[in-house]
Amino acid sequence: MCHSGRVAASQRQRSGCVERAAGGVCKMSVQGEVDTIVIGAGIQGSYTAYHLSKHSKTLLIDQFALPHARGSSHGQTRIIRNVYAKTYYTAMMTECYQLWKQLEAETNTELFRPTGLLVLGKEGNPSFQTMKSTLIDNNVPMTTLTSADVSKRFPAVQLPRGVSALLDKTAGILYADRALKNVQDLFRRFGGIIRDGEKVVQIQPSDLVTVTTTAGIYRAKRLVITAGPWTNKLLNLVGLQLPLEVCYHSGSRADPDERDVSFQRPSQDVELLRDFLSREFPGLDPNPAVVESCMYTNTPDYDFILDHHPDHKNIIVGAGFSGHGFKLAPVVGKVLSELCLGEKPSYDLSPFKICRFHLKSVL
Ligand SMILES: Cc1cc2nc3c(=O)[nH]c(=O)nc-3n(C[C@H](O)[C@H](O)[C@H](O)COP(=O)(O)OP(=O)(O)OC[C@H]3O[C@@H](n4cnc5c(N)ncnc54)[C@H](O)[C@@H]3O)c2cc1C
Repeated sequence: MCHSGRVAASQRQRSGCVERAAGGVCKMSVQGEVDTIVIGAGIQGSYTAYHLSKHSKTLLIDQFALPHARGSSHGQTRIIRNVYAKTYYTAMMTECYQLWKQLEAETNTELFRPTGLLVLGKEGNPSFQTMKSTLIDNNVPMTTLTSADVSKRFPAVQLPRGVSALLDKTAGILYADRALKNVQDLFRRFGGIIRDGEKVVQIQPSDLVTVTTTAGIYRAKRLVITAGPWTNKLLNLVGLQLPLEVCYHSGSRADPDERDVSFQRPSQDVELLRDFLSREFPGLDPNPAVVESCMYTNTPDYDFILDHHPDHKNIIVGAGFSGHGFKLAPVVGKVLSELCLGEKPSYDLSPFKICRFHLKSVL
C-alpha cells in the first residue's frame, strides 16, 4: 500500500515505466527527490520524520504495509516513567511528557494513562539508590515505601525482607499503537510523504544520497536510518556495522526476518515472569492471558545510538533503543532531526555516540 495521493515530490517525476529494482522485484518505478529521507516508520523514525516535516520536505519509507506488528513499536501499551538509573534519560523525560501531551492535544486523542510505577529493589543496590536520588534531584513526585508499607498499600504484593520500593507517581502507560498512528497522521498533515510496503535495498552515499527500494529510486540531501532490529542489515549497505543484538527480553538472539521461527520454542521470558509473579505477587494469576512477541535491539551498554555515520555526515543513525526507547521517542526524534539539519542538539549526546564502540569497517 502506498499513500500515493501524498507523494507530491514523486508524482511530478513518476516515470510510469516498469523496471527491475535492485531487490530483483519488478514493480512500477517511482522516482523522486526530497530534502530528507527517513528509513523505518517505527516510533523513532515516525517521530523524527514528524519533526523534520516542519522544516523540510520529508519522505518516510517502510518495508511493510502500515500498520504492522513485525518490528518493535507495535502493541497496545508501553510504560512511561521518569525513574531511571541513568540521569541523562530522566533529564529528557520532562520534555517527553510535554511533547506526548502536545501530540494528544494536536490529534485530540488520549495517549497517556497515569498509573504510577512501583520500582522494587534491595536497599543497598547502587542502581536502586541512583534511581531514588535521580528522582529527588529532578523534583519528580515520588514516595519511598518499606516492604510493610507496600503490603499495606498493595495487598497482592509481598516483598522479601530487605527489598523496598519507590513509587514514581508520574509514571503510566502510553497507548502505543494509537500513538504511532497519530504521529504518522500528523507527519502527513505537515506535508510528509509515506511510502510503505517498500523495502530499501540499496543506498548510495553522496551529497545527494540515492535510496533504492523495491518500488523506486529516491534522492535526498540527508538520510536518517531508524530501522530497529534491521539496522545492521541497512548499515551494511553503507559500510558500517554496530554492536547491536536483536533479542527477546531474556536476551536470546533473534533474526528479525525469522522472528516467529525462534519464538516457537517455550519462551524463557514467560517463565521468568511467571516465577516472579508467583513469588512476589501471590494475589495475581501468574499465567499470561496473551503472549505477543516484539523485539529489542540492544547495545552492549543499553544506551541508544544517536549520531552521524562516521564517514557520511549527511547520514544519521538512530538505533539500539534497548527495550526502553518508546517513551523517549519525542525527544529522540527531535535530536535526530537537529543532527540532520546541522543544528546544535538540545541535549548532550555524548552517551549516544558511535565512537564509544570499537568498530571495524565492513567495506
Ligand atoms: C516487548 C517490548 C516491550 C517494550 N516496553 C517498553 C516500555 O514499556 N517503554 C518504553 O519506553 N519502551 C519499551 N520498549 C522499547 C520500544 O518499544 C522500542 O525502543 C521502540 O519501539 C523502537 O522503535 P524503532 O522505531 O527503533 O524500531 P521499529 O519499531 O522496529 O521500527 C523500525 C522500522 O524500520 C523498518 N525497516 C527496517 N528495515 C527496512 C528496510 N530495509 N526498508 C524499509 N523499512 C525498513 C521496519 O519495517 C520497522 O517498521 C519495548 C520493546 C519491546 C519489544
